[in-house]
Amino acid sequence: MSFRIRLISFFLVIVLIPMLAMGVLVFGLIDDSGQAKAQARANGLLTSAASIYAYDQASARGAAASLARIVPTVPSSQLRSRLGRAAAQAGLARLELIRQGKPILDIGSRTAVAPGVAAFHLGATITTVRVSDTTADQFVSGLGLGSGVIVREGTQVLGSNVMNASAVGASGSTKVDGVGYEAATSGPLPGFGVPVRLTVLSASRSTATSLSSSRALAAAFIAGFLLLALSFAVIASRGLQSQLSAFLRAARRLGSGDFSAPVPVQGNDEFGMLAREFNSMSKQLAERMEQLQTERARLRESIRRAGETFASNLDREGLLTLAMKTAMDAVEAEFGRLSVREQVGDPLVEVARENTPTEVEDLVLEAERKLLEGEELAEAEQAGVFVASAPLGAAGRVAKGLLTVGRRGRGFSSPDLTLLRSLAWQATLALENVELHEEVQRQAVTDKLTGLINHGRFQEALGSEMEQVRRYRYPVGLIMLDIDNFKQINDTYGHQQGDRVLQAVARVLSETSREADSASRYGGEEMAVVLPHTDLEGSYAIAERIRTAVTRLRIPLLNGDGLIQLTASLGVAVTTEGNKNELIAEADAALYQAKRDGKNRTMRAPVPADVTSGE
Ligand code: GH3
Ligand code: MG
Ligand code: MG
Repeated sequence: MSFRIRLISFFLVIVLIPMLAMGVLVFGLIDDSGQAKAQARANGLLTSAASIYAYDQASARGAAASLARIVPTVPSSQLRSRLGRAAAQAGLARLELIRQGKPILDIGSRTAVAPGVAAFHLGATITTVRVSDTTADQFVSGLGLGSGVIVREGTQVLGSNVMNASAVGASGSTKVDGVGYEAATSGPLPGFGVPVRLTVLSASRSTATSLSSSRALAAAFIAGFLLLALSFAVIASRGLQSQLSAFLRAARRLGSGDFSAPVPVQGNDEFGMLAREFNSMSKQLAERMEQLQTERARLRESIRRAGETFASNLDREGLLTLAMKTAMDAVEAEFGRLSVREQVGDPLVEVARENTPTEVEDLVLEAERKLLEGEELAEAEQAGVFVASAPLGAAGRVAKGLLTVGRRGRGFSSPDLTLLRSLAWQATLALENVELHEEVQRQAVTDKLTGLINHGRFQEALGSEMEQVRRYRYPVGLIMLDIDNFKQINDTYGHQQGDRVLQAVARVLSETSREADSASRYGGEEMAVVLPHTDLEGSYAIAERIRTAVTRLRIPLLNGDGLIQLTASLGVAVTTEGNKNELIAEADAALYQAKRDGKNRTMRAPVPADVTSGE
């Protein structure tokens, strides 16, 4: 249902229906007042009719008195004829003589009315003369009222100028020949025996003119009012509709993302207030949209950075820098720094720093000191610079690191601090992941027992070294070592003791070789050392240093019952061509030569022709 239809329905309910009801009421009242007027008129006419009746009675009383004087003088036998003549002469309508309550003579019309009475003594008896000089019809026509009159004796109509008079009621509204009348009836009036009643009719139509003019006035008034109300409703609904349409248009504009054009504000009413609220809402939405766009841009930047870090293969430093920058973005900080330590007890080392000016260094340190003293989150402020610091690591444990951010002019809110704490925790997890990853990687290339690089890594390292050699043509030496009679140590003292021996020899290898040399466990109790940029003699000298160091080892027996001494045999080879398999085979062959020659010695592989040619 549209707004307009609803408004019109509302108008119908609150204006039209009550107005129609009022119309019915007013018309009813007007009708009633017409009826009342006709009734009053009927009553007035009745009063006149009753007065004339009384007047006729009085004049009949005079005639009765004259007759009463005659009657005693007339002998009984002539009474009827004499009185009949007298009545005829006097023009009487009816004459009645009553003696001792009984009528002894009754001459004239049965419809005579308005009798007058006179009494006289005839001997000892009282005789009454009752005469009338008018019949009911004469009385009616004599009234000349111009209205309907009915004379009744009991229910019998004696005279009337009305059609079908016997059907007319004594009072109230009645209809005669299709015309409406108001009837008024007198009280009992004296008649011949039974009392007479007069009924006067007043036509309702006689008041019809004034009635219809009243009706016309009322109708005009109601119609005028309805017209006024309708015009007002139309104007009001147009006004409301145009304002609502403006809101609708504005809402559609907002919906399509256009915040530029405000709703026109008219007046101070609810619509005006609504328009103002609407505009303020639209302004807030526009601001929020702008914020969202900024945040989206920031998020995009964070995702880009995260992508960069993943691309950098979980690089520890890159990850920590990202964690710091993400935290700075998240809490809108201007500067930040992140420090970590490798292990509990190590000093904290700064690994990432962004925009942190030197003048806030003390403030940063103050916040970080609070953290190290055990606070879960620390803040510091000085001269409008605010700093917040969160620990990396599980709550209640020594911090693995510290994440500190700061900005000017605005302190950090509680949600900011919660976010910082949560990001620090995520950075901790990421850091632990990196460390785990590094550990797994280290284990993958390290021999567990000796800590030397394992066979796989040895092959890899030697392979890449050979690539370099093929390109740059420098000498690379390889020492292969095998512990002499190792099986015997195992057999005599057990495998655990054998392991100790392996560890001791491995330590000799690590200590004797240089940083660039990679010592590895080749397999079993055989070990190898790659010596980049070392010729055969250099390699031989190092091998001899190792061999001597091994002979000097005194390894305590696990049962504490003395020390083990041992020897090892070594083979040395060198390449400048970069053939890995050939190099290993040559060193191996030299080693076996050493074994064959009696052990505890170093043998050189046959010197390749290209080395001796004096390059
Ligand atoms: P040779 O002087 O000829 O080298 O004699 P050898 O006893 O050293 O002979 P061989 O090379 O046959 O013996 C190697 C022994 O090293 C066999 C094996 O049980 C032992 N071995 C290999 N790896 C380990 C290890 O990880 N721990 C211990 N305890 N023994 C190992
Ligand atoms: Mg061996
Ligand atoms: Mg051996």
